[in-house]
Amino acid sequence: MTDNVTQVPHRYTLPLGRVLPQHSTCLKSDAKELLAPCVAELIQKTEHPFIQAITEFISPTAAFWRGKVLLAGDALATLRPQSGLGLNSAARSALLLADVLRGKMKIETWEKEALEFAEAARATGIRNSGFLGLARTKEEAEEKEKGAVRSVRS
Ligand SMILES: Cc1cc2nc3c(=O)[nH]c(=O)nc-3n(C[C@H](O)[C@H](O)[C@H](O)COP(=O)(O)OP(=O)(O)OC[C@H]3O[C@@H](n4cnc5c(N)ncnc54)[C@H](O)[C@@H]3O)c2cc1C
Repeated sequence: MTDNVTQVPHRYTLPLGRVLPQHSTCLKSDAKELLAPCVAELIQKTEHPFIQAITEFISPTAAFWRGKVLLAGDALATLRPQSGLGLNSAARSALLLADVLRGKMKIETWEKEALEFAEAARATGIRNSGFLGLARTKEEAEEKEKGAVRSVRS
């Protein structure tokens, strides 16, 4: 991802107007081949695209030092945008934390809930990738969905 202006390579983001013309052309032809027609059309019509690499990570632990340090929101789970659940994950952890502070929920239960929600949100993101055409065929989307369900159960 080389910056068209500074010639500096970027690892995750290439800002608006900084994509090399040949990469822009490549992006458009790949979109036509790989994505759902409505998404591909959006990319064809975008005169100056930007590029954002999508990463996803879920911490295996949410509560440290017997609940003295907690991870919630994006710090706990950085989800792909297709899940549309990052804020929900953060808000849910915060709401449940109120129960912990009132003595209605154990910190271990809070952590379990937070991690399970994050995994379910990740599965939703994978499923939604299929709907957006980021999986090429229905079978591929279904296959991805099965894989996501398997990863939540395991
Ligand atoms: C374009 C976009 C669309 C999104 N759409 C959705 C959606 O439709 N539905 C959904 O559920 N989620 C959505 N999300 C995800 C959602 O916004 C995040 O998951 C959510 O905001 C995470 O909340 P957070 O409190 O963990 O982090 P943040 O909201 O990022 O809050 C972290 C805060 O910490 C501050 N901060 C950082 N470093 C320091 C420091 N050193 N000292 C003090 N303060 C610091 C930051 O300024 C920030 O205010 C979207 C995100 C983006 C970018």
